[in-house]
Amino acid sequence: MRFDDFGLNEKILEAISYMGYEKASEIQELTIPAILNGNDILACAQTGTGKTAAFMLPILDHLATEDNHDLSTLVVVPTRELAIQINQQIQGFSYFLNINSVTVYGGRDGSDWDAESKALTKGTNIIVATPGKLISHLNLGYVKFDKLKHLVLDEADRMLDIGFYDDILRILSYVPDERQTLMFSATMPQKIRDLASKILKNPVEFSTAISKPAEGVLQAAYVVYENQKIPVINSLIANKPDLDSILVFSSTKKKVLEIVKSLKKAGNSVEGISSDLEQKEREDVLMRFRSRRTRVLVATDVLSRGIDIKDINLIINFDVPGSAEDYVHRVGRTARADKTGIAISLINEHDMDKFDRIEKLIEQEVLKIPVPVELGDGPVYKVRPKRSGGRPSGKRKFSSGRKPNRGSSNTE
Ligand code: AMP
Repeated sequence: MRFDDFGLNEKILEAISYMGYEKASEIQELTIPAILNGNDILACAQTGTGKTAAFMLPILDHLATEDNHDLSTLVVVPTRELAIQINQQIQGFSYFLNINSVTVYGGRDGSDWDAESKALTKGTNIIVATPGKLISHLNLGYVKFDKLKHLVLDEADRMLDIGFYDDILRILSYVPDERQTLMFSATMPQKIRDLASKILKNPVEFSTAISKPAEGVLQAAYVVYENQKIPVINSLIANKPDLDSILVFSSTKKKVLEIVKSLKKAGNSVEGISSDLEQKEREDVLMRFRSRRTRVLVATDVLSRGIDIKDINLIINFDVPGSAEDYVHRVGRTARADKTGIAISLINEHDMDKFDRIEKLIEQEVLKIPVPVELGDGPVYKVRPKRSGGRPSGKRKFSSGRKPNRGSSNTE
């Protein structure tokens, strides 16, 4: 389905066409008509499926017809990274519209407070906020949600996992009853259904299929410190001539360069590919990899999408990808067309929660292999305890007797 088929505002269509969107993704096809129709929705969709556009395009379509600067839309998200990412997308979608949006999240040095409070009181249409910081502003009384029409809860399951249940209910006490509420969640456990039944009115429910790695992929992981990653790769591929086509994924272009440099130093035949290379250079690099002249190719996620190379024997996730969708996509580069392949992920101490989440989404526990003894001990694999309703659930998954901490500090 194409975006024109939804009857969206011309200026939105123009913006998304500049952003390279041609066809609607599955979740967009399902939810956009229902949201345009004014329904509440409960949608099960993961990051990477296009869910931001799925809720934002129809909301922007409404705002485009209203042409005012009322605070009409609130998007509540679990982490500052997601807030920034969503806001960037909103700015892209509304490039040709007279609509503004701000992010509100904690963890900065305080200098942002005045800017945020000003934005919250002076003609901002859309706020994308993490719960804690938003409540701090709400407590001071100057944020008025009386004109609010659209409330979005994104990654709702993650918000509950982090312990934002009470905060969400608190935020809800500030917003008008008469509103459209859209709830997105990567998984649909009972606690999400319970929350949905409290805050949604006659919701239309949608679910997209969760993709999973192909059967033929042997998945495993090393739990390592960052400085053990290169030695682990070297020990994994040394003296194994059968592994003649190895693809290493990294999330950033900068990291690609560093990995290439380090693997080269250890004597490997390796090249990197990222969007920094000219088209011709990219094709040459790919050609050398395809023809097995280069044994190891290091790539970013973005470029990997277009790579169709047969018979890759080993995939290495140098870091844990941001979404299960990316994980499945990376891992899917091996074991194509009924073949078998190996996919190894390197999980450092900051990425454990992220990896745990991916395992839940693909409904598979990935084998954790001990770091070779000569490389020293790796970190203990531990996952942040789940909290619900703001209270510890008592169900902990700690392999050491250490006290849990709230870990990755990226939530507020
Ligand atoms: P999300 O799941 O919202 O985080 O989106 C994942 C990525 O897909 C983002 O980079 C979006 O810009 C992109 N995206 C979303 N919908 C489409 C589409 N219909 N066509 C192309 N790219 C899209």
